[in-house]
Amino acid sequence: MTEKRYDLHCHSIYSDGTDTVEELFQLAVKNKLSGLSITDHDTINAYEEACTLVKDYPLKLLPGVEISTESEGSSVHLLAYSFSPNDPKMISFMKKQQKAREDRNLQIIANLKEKGMPLELEELKEDIGVIGRPHIAEALVREGYVLTQRDAFDLYIAEGQSCFVPGNRPQVEEVIDVVHSMNAFAVLAHPHLIRDNTLTKRLLAMPFDGLEARYANFYPAQEKKWERLADSREWIKTGGSDYHGEIKAHIDLGASWVRDKTFDHLYNRYLENDALHRAQ
Ligand code: AMP
Ligand code: FE
Ligand code: FE
Ligand code: ZN
Repeated sequence: MTEKRYDLHCHSIYSDGTDTVEELFQLAVKNKLSGLSITDHDTINAYEEACTLVKDYPLKLLPGVEISTESEGSSVHLLAYSFSPNDPKMISFMKKQQKAREDRNLQIIANLKEKGMPLELEELKEDIGVIGRPHIAEALVREGYVLTQRDAFDLYIAEGQSCFVPGNRPQVEEVIDVVHSMNAFAVLAHPHLIRDNTLTKRLLAMPFDGLEARYANFYPAQEKKWERLADSREWIKTGGSDYHGEIKAHIDLGASWVRDKTFDHLYNRYLENDALHRAQ
């Protein structure tokens, strides 16, 4: 029997992914996954639909979210797992994150307008999701201001470019505390993307529960480095594809994954939290 695989990092149309929850589940089955976590940016809105729909699939669904935080001005993505989507603490924390994003989007749009590239906020996203820079990049292409989304980032909205706005992001340590207060796990997302060694060292000294040691199309040697760092701290080694659908078409759902042992550890904690918040 082949061992089971679980992808712990992907995005849906509730943030900047292009697949619906149903499409993610269908693809997960097609790609022979036994379960997944949908980790949208600063929203758990997918879970209302997902928790019901998953009952029709041979899949286990682990609640997760990718939270935008910062440390000394640098952006840090933190993955939270195993919370109950009904936890009032999580619901109000998500509201706060989304308000900060809305304010930030308005500021980015104002900057673009000043450069002669007006955008209508309502046109950025007609449906349900949290708006992020990929949607703004898409709109810039649609309006003909730039040729590609890559250009939109490189010329205007990437960190350090003229229209970039960091937004009001909470400190990493603060978010780790919030996540722990929900009896959930705080995991450092894609640590290899952090280019500043001082920041990496600072993060590795924080009270995370895990790090994302397997990511997208990593080579085994890349995984080894992060696996060793996680082991030395007795942290959980998580993994996932960071699948976004069409906008990052070279990465498929299930490109990276974890085994039963890791998944069950996270999933059992979710069941504990779920029981607690159902009883209330
Ligand atoms: P946001 O959460 O609004 O800051 O947007 C972050 C998302 O934008 C990331 O998850 C990436 O998918 C995408 N992104 C960030 N930087 C770049 C870049 N330089 N080029 C292309 N996409 C990027
Ligand atoms: Fe994203
Ligand atoms: Fe990320
Ligand atoms: Zn992601």
